[in-house]
Amino acid sequence: MSSKSNISKFFCYDCYLSMKIFSFEPIKSSVIQNRRGNEKDNSSFSYSSNWAEYSKQYGIINLSSVMFKGKDKNMRDNEFIKVRDEFSKDLEPKSLKANIDCWNFYINSTDENREKYETSQEKVYELYRNEDIYKKLKSLEKSGLTDKHLSKQLKDLTREFDEELNAGELKKALREKENDIASKYNRYIPMIDGKETTKAEISKILQNEKDVDLRKKAYDARIKGGDVIADDLVDFVKMRNEFAKTKGYKNFFEYQLKEAYDVDANYLQNLLDEVYDNAKDVNAKLQAENKKELADEYGIGINDLKAYHYGLLLDNNPAKEINKSLKTKEQVVDISKNAYTGMGYDVDNMPVTLDLFPRKNKNTHGFCFDIEAGRDARILANLTNDANSIDTLCHELGHCVYHIGISRDLPFLDQTAYPAMTEAVAMMMGDLQQRENILKDTVPAETLDKFKKDLKKSEAKFINRSMLIIAFEKSMYENPDQDLGKLWHDLRVKYTGANENEEINNEWATIPHYLSHPAYYQNYFRANLMKAQMYNHLHKELGNITENKNTAKYLKDNLFQYGTCMEENELIEKFTGEPLSSKALCETLKE
Ligand SMILES: [Zn+2]
Repeated sequence: MSSKSNISKFFCYDCYLSMKIFSFEPIKSSVIQNRRGNEKDNSSFSYSSNWAEYSKQYGIINLSSVMFKGKDKNMRDNEFIKVRDEFSKDLEPKSLKANIDCWNFYINSTDENREKYETSQEKVYELYRNEDIYKKLKSLEKSGLTDKHLSKQLKDLTREFDEELNAGELKKALREKENDIASKYNRYIPMIDGKETTKAEISKILQNEKDVDLRKKAYDARIKGGDVIADDLVDFVKMRNEFAKTKGYKNFFEYQLKEAYDVDANYLQNLLDEVYDNAKDVNAKLQAENKKELADEYGIGINDLKAYHYGLLLDNNPAKEINKSLKTKEQVVDISKNAYTGMGYDVDNMPVTLDLFPRKNKNTHGFCFDIEAGRDARILANLTNDANSIDTLCHELGHCVYHIGISRDLPFLDQTAYPAMTEAVAMMMGDLQQRENILKDTVPAETLDKFKKDLKKSEAKFINRSMLIIAFEKSMYENPDQDLGKLWHDLRVKYTGANENEEINNEWATIPHYLSHPAYYQNYFRANLMKAQMYNHLHKELGNITENKNTAKYLKDNLFQYGTCMEENELIEKFTGEPLSSKALCETLKE
């Protein structure tokens, strides 16, 4: 997830799988870039003994040709580089410490570990409260730099300082309001027939239960959680808008989009419209098929389908058979590692730490922690023996290989990945079980074929759901006083093919991103487009990527090593040879 800004980011990427089943609760904290530091600080991790060998094989490449592109830097550019690099020297070790403390807290959530983590986090923020550096940055900003990338870095860095030094009170009020709403929502205990249940239990019911009465009760119990916080969320949206106005933006959605993710609101809208128009027909067809199957299963008419009927895993779903064939969790790990071996990675000998199975005091989601670019990536997961777990592990390993592939020759602030880019690679890797043949020794060819064909269905569902969530969020910030229940209803009809006669409710308020990660969902949406475009390109160059050992080197040389040293759209164009568009994704849907 991300972000405080482009400079200090969250460094954990939540797994895509949980988004697919829509119970995704993103990690919330206010951290900090994953950063290299002095190695003495890094005692809790020992590098792989094969690291030297690994570095040689995937050696650091000279990036100067890309970083400087022959441009002349003027004196102010050089002055900024000096300030930036001085600051980075302090930032690196403190960020690394915070990253490691965060990992320790997530794998063992004791009060002591929480305190350690909060302390090291605060030490990072302290660095941004330095008036002297802030003044230097302001004066450089005023006179302007020549280099485009440096100008952007300067702008981001200045904003970080500005927000820590000047918007303190307002930011504090926003943080408090957010925490209040989060605790209110977390305190809500869903009930079915007067008995307490859990959010996980509800998801299970909606996936497996055919008893419509019980489904409706589970669905209602979930929506009531939204009722508890809906009014608070509206107030919070208004507060955020007030903050954005002080920064010269129309509303907070546009502020966050531009300032945190460098995405232009009009550009995003055009992309959404393009996907909507191109995928409209195929979506209508898939939605009609899905509705017919569901209605048949329940023995009702298509027009009687309600929100609580959706989400059921049907018996003819090939994932069911795959799950049956996966006897152990270890099998899941072997299949995933073998897929990476096929791409030319030696996961066991990379500086990657795997903490894969549930344990007491351990966070229950799936994350990749980018501890130190090129040197240290760690996965926290809670795998079981099913196809979803293969998706999760392949996904998180995708974040890892990206992070390990980033060149350490880059300036420290560029030793990271854009959220949508790393998410795109991870999603692409998660799809490999439905794209290529990594399950060929696990299930009969017929099942695998069916499973592969189902990819487009999950793609379509994901894309429609993302469009719904983004369109709603945008409109909510534009006009928080409108009837939001009705807005959600109308957009559900438009994007997901929901029935027009369904009742209006506060389901929208159960989307966790609206509270904790404003304007973030568009990263997943864009990542999904990138993923399709990247895979097409790779497949053209390399064939099935899990059957070509050059894949690892190709990805590193052409994508990973660059970190954020060029802008996101330049990077995607350089890598795939085309600017980002919806073309590849729409083709996947039609296949
Ligand atoms: Zn991810």
